[in-house]
Amino acid sequence: MRANLLLCSAFWLCASFFLHAQQLDAPANFSVPPATREAIRNLIGETMLNGKSYDYARELADGIGPRLTGSANYVRAVTWAQEQFRALGMDVHTENWTIAATWEPDIPAVGHIVTPVDHTLHIYAAGWSPSTRQGGVNGKVIYIPSLDLPALDAQRAELAGAIALVDDATLAKSPTTDKLFSGLEHLRSLSVVAILLPGGPNGTEELDCYSYTGAIDLVPEAEVGEEDVLLMRRLLQHGPVTVEFTLKNRIHKDVQISNVVAEIRGTELYQEVVLVGAHLDSWQPGTGAQDNGTGVASLLETARAIQALHRPPKRTIRFVLFGGEEEGMLGSTAYARQHRADIDKIDAVLITDSGSEPAKGWYVMGRESEREPLAAISPLLAGIGADGVSLDTQYIFESDHIGFEILGVPSLVLWTGMDKYMSLHHKASDTFDSIIPKDLAQGTSVIAVAAYALADSSHSFAPHLSPEEVDSMFRQSGHFDEYEYLKKVGALP
Ligand SMILES: [Zn+2]
Repeated sequence: MRANLLLCSAFWLCASFFLHAQQLDAPANFSVPPATREAIRNLIGETMLNGKSYDYARELADGIGPRLTGSANYVRAVTWAQEQFRALGMDVHTENWTIAATWEPDIPAVGHIVTPVDHTLHIYAAGWSPSTRQGGVNGKVIYIPSLDLPALDAQRAELAGAIALVDDATLAKSPTTDKLFSGLEHLRSLSVVAILLPGGPNGTEELDCYSYTGAIDLVPEAEVGEEDVLLMRRLLQHGPVTVEFTLKNRIHKDVQISNVVAEIRGTELYQEVVLVGAHLDSWQPGTGAQDNGTGVASLLETARAIQALHRPPKRTIRFVLFGGEEEGMLGSTAYARQHRADIDKIDAVLITDSGSEPAKGWYVMGRESEREPLAAISPLLAGIGADGVSLDTQYIFESDHIGFEILGVPSLVLWTGMDKYMSLHHKASDTFDSIIPKDLAQGTSVIAVAAYALADSSHSFAPHLSPEEVDSMFRQSGHFDEYEYLKKVGALP
């Protein structure tokens, strides 16, 4: 039954696409020429009916697995991606940048509450945490109600030599990257021996790293399952609590990391570039299937499907797989920095990093001026259910577009339904079984259509912003303080 159901729905789905493709005739203000529309008709068919995105996603998630930046699996993925591009007859190379440190758990973390009760903790090394000293750390647990600097200073005496406990309630009081990262930085400086951070429900981990530098943290930091955090909070209401735990992580300093770069050379406007980007690195509780395996798969499939057209667009389409995204968009920021001199040649940046639920359209990340040019291609996206434009800026500092946005380059991020994505984000459940093939194909189709339409357009997508305009855009987005924080820690391109 299921298979049949799948089959007939796929048939109706594609039938509707073709119906839509037939209707790709020009509405009044439509500026996409018939030849481009014809190519896009074929592109939709290619990605929806003959697509390889699901295969690419399986090879990456099941064949290679979790890809911490600079790890052996990451290096394997770089080689694999290059092989895929070469198999498509494309020129591919790597562009390297240096990360302050690579990090990977060597053995699983172990830890337990020692007093007032002996309780084994569900504990995991936090990303980019140092190892503990031989034999582990132990100490009194001190709860941190707030990461505001004055509040931390008020706890300075009791924190010296102690293990600080931060929970979701603490983090909720530091809603911006600036407040959160600066608060943790200050806490690390108050002679604590270690920091415990909140993990997920059912004793799970929700891995993350709390800095934009790629450097190893000052003190050992571990995530503890939600129920264990609540237990420690309750025990603390009745007296002191002591904990001990051991982390052993593999760390290498100043490591060269490769971004993978491949191109489909344009025709009459080949110096101008439409950049399609996705991060190749992932966290390691799961296999990084949707964060960001599906993004990588969509990018490769977009290249394959456009190559299969044998009709290169006017502008060059450049495909870039970045490393270091989970450590603070390090690879994409390095790329933007390395290409600063020719950044004006980049006409638009399209980023995919939001999983494989059905795509609704594009986030313009606060760039109002992108709405109108995007509307010009929305009839092409309407039939595949993705002509939406989101002005929501909550993710404006959350992915690889940011390095380009800061330099004023027009950027779009794929807008998908994020419910499932957030339920498996950085968790052990981020695995291949979570991907639905037809949804991944649809999202891929949206990226391919947008990239091709923008690259084959007779005019540029949207204006590049001046530094003053970038400043005011971040002010209007309500995230100016995070911009200031990036400046403060030297994380700008
Ligand atoms: Zn991601």
